[in-house]
Amino acid sequence: MDAENAKIPQATAKRLPLYYRFINNLHSQGKMRVSSKELSEAVKVDSATIRRDFSYFGALGKKGYGYNVEYLLSFFRQTLDQDETTNVALIGVGNLGTAFLNYNFMKNNNTKIEVAFDAKDDRIGQTVGGVPIKHIDDLEKHMDGISVAILTVPSSAAQGIADRLVEAGISGVLNFTPARITVPNSVRVHHIDLAVELQALVYFLKHYPLDEEED
Ligand code: ATP
Repeated sequence: MDAENAKIPQATAKRLPLYYRFINNLHSQGKMRVSSKELSEAVKVDSATIRRDFSYFGALGKKGYGYNVEYLLSFFRQTLDQDETTNVALIGVGNLGTAFLNYNFMKNNNTKIEVAFDAKDDRIGQTVGGVPIKHIDDLEKHMDGISVAILTVPSSAAQGIADRLVEAGISGVLNFTPARITVPNSVRVHHIDLAVELQALVYFLKHYPLDEEED
């Protein structure tokens, strides 16, 4: 997102990809407009929040009309840099890494895994999901134009690789390892621990059962 949109609150910014995906689907179905109620039901965000979010980027829905799909889509495209592809590197072609390489991220957003790295010699030179696998020792040789990295290595390798990625000029890291990595303030790290997320869901199901519809 560019500096112009810096005034959008972070919580709103986090919902943009969700809105984008739904609006994109509506657009490809030829729909011209959408109400905040429809949006709310589809993305599971209450309609007051949607109206507030949309007001930040000047999309003021009209009563009885809703929002213009074309306008929203062009806004989201611009804001989320959908017109520009972000090149991604994946480090660690194990079970999880392999699944990501086979997953078509381009389907829903303009991110593309360009290159993957692993330490196992027998993987080097292969391609998985059309992505070439290079040796981790050669990381720095293949980082031109790559701004984001996905980390799917064992925890013990995470910090060392993160240091090298920082040195190579990375802007963002999606960290799937349970390790908390330390990077300079200029690098953004999003941490996703699937085991913790699953455990949290099970805990919530047990202790906070959803017996009635929540807002
Ligand atoms: P996953 O956790 O994705 O299910 P796995 O159980 O198949 O993976 P892990 O031991 O977690 O295997 O390792 C993930 C991948 O990371 C493996 O393919 C491994 O060869 C690779 N790997 C391990 N250490 C490094 C390293 N220092 N640099 C790059 N790749 C590494």
